[in-house]
Parts: sequence; structure tokens; C-alpha cells
Amino acid sequence: MRFLLDNPTFAMACRQFDQAADLLELPRALRERTKWPKRMVAVAVPVRMDSGEVSVFNGYRVQHHLSLGPTKGGIRYAPGVDLGEVSALAMWMSWKCALMGLPFGGAKGGVACDPQMLSRRECEALTRRYTQELISFIGSRSDIPAPDLGTDEQIMAWMMDTYSNHAGYAVPEIVTGKPVSIGGSLGRREATGRGVAFLVNRAVEMGKLASPVRVIVQGFGNVGSHAALELARTGASIVGVSDRTGAVYRSGGIDLAGLQQHVARQGGVRGFPEAEPIDDREILLQPCDVLIPAAVERVITEDIARKVQCRILAEGANGPTTPEADEVLAERPEIFVLPDILCNAGGVVVSYFEWVQDLQSFFWSEREVYDALNRMLTDALAKILKRAEREKVSTRMAALMIGIERVAAAKKLRGLFP
Ligand code: GLU
Repeated sequence: MRFLLDNPTFAMACRQFDQAADLLELPRALRERTKWPKRMVAVAVPVRMDSGEVSVFNGYRVQHHLSLGPTKGGIRYAPGVDLGEVSALAMWMSWKCALMGLPFGGAKGGVACDPQMLSRRECEALTRRYTQELISFIGSRSDIPAPDLGTDEQIMAWMMDTYSNHAGYAVPEIVTGKPVSIGGSLGRREATGRGVAFLVNRAVEMGKLASPVRVIVQGFGNVGSHAALELARTGASIVGVSDRTGAVYRSGGIDLAGLQQHVARQGGVRGFPEAEPIDDREILLQPCDVLIPAAVERVITEDIARKVQCRILAEGANGPTTPEADEVLAERPEIFVLPDILCNAGGVVVSYFEWVQDLQSFFWSEREVYDALNRMLTDALAKILKRAEREKVSTRMAALMIGIERVAAAKKLRGLFP
């Protein structure tokens, strides 16, 4: 399995794990059992394109560990998806679920494709065939997919329908992040972004900075847009937004409703007339209080970490900050890091609520969802701060140590089969 280490994202996830495992002084055998992904599947997904030609896409699903319950994690549609990236993301899901006290192991899946280039019919065909290829690997008691980069509620609905047709009855609990009308949870769509905003506001309250708060968001997808909207609603000023099309900046604050309309029309933030265009690297370096990377991995590099001017780094994305950048941040105590496995955990926590609601066929109000979510985020933040203080480690290391420790403890208690 060491072949996976050729992938920079997997190598990064392993480096983080090794650091935390050293601090925890995990014995060698337990460390190996906790680290490596348990199961991986690679599938060829043939799709008849609108042109009449058949294209074959590469799909993957990785289940990292099965010691605490079913595995849980999103499905990513993006051109660069490969087994190493999906494995790293599955590993991070394990620590995230364990940190939040959810009865899940981590998983992740993906298809290497450019969803922007697929027609709706092609996307549906790809989703259904990918689900079909995974039928014997996923299950509501074994592995439960959800949305991630490039996938959405509609894609979850097609996955649920494909799986349910196979079963012969509706199985809403096979995926989370579905539309509410077919068994989704109220609040799931906004949960990741609102969780980010909630934690930023807690950090502000803890005296990390004075309000009003100026925010820069990288990525204006489901996570970045809802984080920005919620922060704006609670009084912050969103001064910069970037996405894969470009970046825009306005020191007096960007009108988000106007930006959303522009994005709906033009497919991205580029060209938004009520803000200045700016280079997408430069935007990360502008003065602000809160910087929210909410796009992809490894964007906060060593060089960027040296130059960022924020006071809070709120990681909406998975793995946005490299270990080299972490070393720089360790020398910059004025920057408070809300690490990814806490900061973006709102999504999987509400996915957990969705799965519980589906299993019980008993649905919660949005208020119940957010009260429970906010309580869990508050508790996890407090645990991390306490651990970081006690062990004199970064908030990231504290979060990873709590997550990894729980998985390792479960493996130790359950023992080795046979
Ligand atoms: N894809 C999201 C994440 O990275 C959500 C996963 C889920 O809800 O299962 O946390």
C-alpha cells in the first residue's frame, strides 16, 4: 500500500498521522493498524456521451477503517481525482468522525471527470453507473456516501434511486446530503458553511480579534458561499472571494446577493462588476481578519503561510494547509488555526443526523439540527483548546491526536481477528 505515498496529498495525510502518532506514542503494530486504509475499490465507469461515443471514467471508493461503525464520506467529481487523493481524504474523514464522536469510520470516493463539461444526462448516467459498480461495496450499515467537491443533492438523489431500484424498495439511508423531499435533513445543505461561520464567531468571542470582521473566502461552492452568507448575516464584511474562474476584492465589502446572481449567470465570480478583479494568489495575501480556504487541498503553502495577513485561518476545505506551512504557522502565534477536521465537520455531523433520521423515519426541525450541531462543535473546540494547551501543540495536532487516539483505542479494545 506504500505505493500510495507517491501521491502528495496522501504523503501529507501520512505525515500528519505520523506526527500525531509520535506524540501519542502509539506502539508500532497499533500505529500500522490505525494508519492504512482498510479497503479500496477502483472501477471503470463506461458512459454513453451525448455525441454517441462511449467514454470510460475512473472511479474510486476507499474505506479507511471499520472499527467504530459504517464508513462515511463524500463523493468527489473532479479531473484530478485519483486513488491517493481519495485515500488521504478517507483518512481525514476517520479522524474527523472520531473527533466529533460519531459512530463512523472515514471513507471517500470520486470519479476523475470534469463535471462542468458533462451534460445533465451524462452526469446522471455516470452517477448511476458508478453507483451500480459500487453496489456490493456500499450500504447503509457499511458505507454511506455524501456530497463533496463537484457533487450535490441531485447526484445523491440519483445514487439513492439507483441503489433503491436494486434493493426493490426505497433506501434513503444509503446516502446523506439528499434533497429534503426524499429523506434528506433540514439544514444539511448549509451545514458545513454554517459550521465554519459558527466556529469563527466562537473564536471572535474568545477574544481572538475585534469586530467588525473582514473575511476572505477561497472557493464559492457549497462550503464557501454558505460560510460567507452566514458570516455576513452575523455582521462580518466579506472583502474578497475567489473560485476556479478568478478572484474579486472590495475593501468596503462585497454584496453577496449580487455576487450570487452573477455566479448563477456567469458560472463563477470572475467579471463581477461591483468589485475589483485580483490575482487568485494575491487575494490570499490581502489584509483581513479571517481567511477561509474552502476549495481544495494544499493551497496554503509555506510561502503563503509566511505572507498571509489574517488572524484566524478557518479551514473549510479538507487539507488546505501543507505540513511545511504548519511549521511556519507555528512561528506565527498571532494566527489562530481552526483545523479542517473541526472547522468543516458541520457537514458530516448533520449527515450523521440525516442517517439517524432516515433509520428512525422520524424527522427533526431545523432548530433541533442546529442546536445539536452547535453543541457538538462547541464541545469539540473546547476539547481541542484544552488538549493544545496541555500538550503544548498546535490546534491541528490536538484535533488529530483526539481523533486518532479514539480510533486506536477502539482497535485495541476490539483486539485482532482471528
Ligand atoms: N464531504 C464532506 C466532508 O468532507 C461531508 C461528508 C459526509 O457528509 O459524509 O466532510
